[in-house]
Amino acid sequence: MIEAKKLTEEFGCLVFNDKVMRERLPKDIYKAVHKTIEKGTHLELDVANCVAAAMKEWAVENGATHFTHWFQPMTGLTAEKHDSFISPTDDGSIIMEFSGKELVKGEPDASSFPSGGLRATFEARGYTAWDPSSPAFIKDGSLYIPTAFCSYGGEALDKKTPLLRSMEALSANAVKMLHLLGYKDVNRVNTTIGSEQEYFLIDKDFYKKRKDLLFTGRTLIGAPASKGQEMEDHYFGVIKPKVSAYMHDLDEELWKLGIPAKTKHNEVAPSQHELAPVFETANIAVDHNQLTMEVMKKVADKHNYACLLHEKPFEGINGSGKHNNWSICSDTGINLLDPGKNPGENVPFLVFLMAVIAAVDDYAPILRLAVASAGNDHRLGGNEAPPAIISIFVGDELAQVLHSIEEGTAYQAAGKVQMAMGAQVLPHFTKDNTDRNRTSPFAFTGNKFEFRMPGSAVSVANANIVLNTAVAEEVARLYDKLSGFSGDKLKEKVMEVLREELNAHKRILFNGNGYTQEWVAEAEKRGLPNLKSLPDAMPYWISDESIELFTKHHILTKEEIHSRYEILLENYSKSIHIESLTMQEMVRKDLTEGIVAYEKDLSKEIVQKKELLSGDCCELELGILKSLDEATASMKKALSKLSEDTKTAEGKIDGLETASFYQKTILADMDELRKYADEAEALIPDKYLSYPTYGQMLFSLR
Ligand code: ADP
Ligand code: MG
Repeated sequence: MIEAKKLTEEFGCLVFNDKVMRERLPKDIYKAVHKTIEKGTHLELDVANCVAAAMKEWAVENGATHFTHWFQPMTGLTAEKHDSFISPTDDGSIIMEFSGKELVKGEPDASSFPSGGLRATFEARGYTAWDPSSPAFIKDGSLYIPTAFCSYGGEALDKKTPLLRSMEALSANAVKMLHLLGYKDVNRVNTTIGSEQEYFLIDKDFYKKRKDLLFTGRTLIGAPASKGQEMEDHYFGVIKPKVSAYMHDLDEELWKLGIPAKTKHNEVAPSQHELAPVFETANIAVDHNQLTMEVMKKVADKHNYACLLHEKPFEGINGSGKHNNWSICSDTGINLLDPGKNPGENVPFLVFLMAVIAAVDDYAPILRLAVASAGNDHRLGGNEAPPAIISIFVGDELAQVLHSIEEGTAYQAAGKVQMAMGAQVLPHFTKDNTDRNRTSPFAFTGNKFEFRMPGSAVSVANANIVLNTAVAEEVARLYDKLSGFSGDKLKEKVMEVLREELNAHKRILFNGNGYTQEWVAEAEKRGLPNLKSLPDAMPYWISDESIELFTKHHILTKEEIHSRYEILLENYSKSIHIESLTMQEMVRKDLTEGIVAYEKDLSKEIVQKKELLSGDCCELELGILKSLDEATASMKKALSKLSEDTKTAEGKIDGLETASFYQKTILADMDELRKYADEAEALIPDKYLSYPTYGQMLFSLR
């Protein structure tokens, strides 16, 4: 346990961070590494050798015996293969070695990772390449080196490569724009991300007893508990002592890894919680979020919990998301999405704001796809999460600023309003210029945008790759309209362009309640896409527009785009396939076993009672038996249909057609089966079930 007063020393104690590098590397080497990180210059082998030696020495001192290239293949998870530092010597002993070559490049066999047809299985070679911009760290006795992963032919097989490319594309275009606007001292623009992570905790023993949770991460059957989230008593509620101990342990493990865990609280659904870190540069934030998810599970295990990261682990109550807070900041310290005191006069802010608005409008389907997964499809469009329609909330103040631009009138910044709470003893403070809107999928929140659609289980890399690239494209487009102007003429031109853009893109702005049916209808009138499921959205991924966007900015090649298309579809179909098989097994074995046992006892009971009381009795028991019989008859029918349709799905070949079939037919079959299974389950006492019920799972935390 870290003592509070030692926290400043212990934070990042397992990270080979800038401080350690400064202490342990010769000055010229330290400078060379920094140049590589900041300017993306090539790293010479002698520099790499020197860094590797220092890293190994530090890692061994901190208990590491192995090193691993850590990467993010397109499974959405992380991958690692460990090598020890040992090198045998002639006298039968060993020395600990780690070379620059080993640091810079790894050669894992790539054949068993998804490649979406980018290479055949016999072409096994893949490379991992050190990403010096994300610091190495120690975990479980190994030195973890963040790396990018590509095939023998150089195609990206991971999420980090395109993310880094997209950050560079955005930076290059933003710098050009800032130079034009007079900010000549800017050399780089960084994307910053803070991703709030939601999760559920349940008792580990319960988790182990449910095949659906074990195999698919979500419950596939389960009658609702008598209590759900209707009392609104869990959100920000008192954190129970055991959960609090877990959260504390989690914070400490994250802090040691240099992850700035900041906020923790109970979420809306029972047993649901959230952790938010302080924002960091996109690449590091994405790595850190992957690590956070892993550490959440590991610490949960130690505390006898299972941590559920699935987007919809339980039917009928809120699912989990991962709000992606996103902004752009220059190396001179300007947050380009900070409106400042007078947003109406803040030209760079207005230009970048408009670029984001245009990007979200022009590339809405691709942004929707960036958050599409089998799991997240259950969440988007539910009552708790933003709809599948993308719109932007800008808040009252910005809406007025934009309105005045449109009208060509001067905007008067509203003075700060004092908050009066009606009791003298309470402190006085100024009010924010706008209220919050929790229902918007893409909300302006003061000095950043909060993209609320990403699901809790997947990497946030995709969302940020698309955001960065789309904004880079819009900044480039605006630059073309503005270049050639300077001084007052430029100022005038900016206003003219902003007006034009606003007219073209204002349909995407919506400050109202995004959860209502009225908005769905209104959005349709405005021509905004409503892509409810992953298969609905997939064609946009390989559209001309998408290929043009990603290839123009060198984020993905056409082949890489197509490979990702195949992988996404395959992953989607496979996930639902596993769900279907698991559900069938649970109904056929676990639930049926419970029903049969209860029916047997109940029948015995009825026979005995009838003997005793001779005649009219057992109305209640007979009623239950009859209801059970009806439910099981319908259940059997639904089970056969699911089983047959799943066999049909197995025979399908085309990726999109298969995914659509899973979405339209199999998911509908599963819903139908669930209806009767839950009806039956609700009739039998808990003790007849070999698995825990919703009530037990959701309300047992202490
Ligand atoms: P809320 O729940 O109200 O959205 P939180 O405090 O839970 O607020 O999360 C806000 C997140 O936004 C944090 O992760 C925070 O670090 C992040 N954030 C703040 N400023 C920026 C910024 N400039 N760029 C990116 N993320 C930011
Ligand atoms: Mg939050």
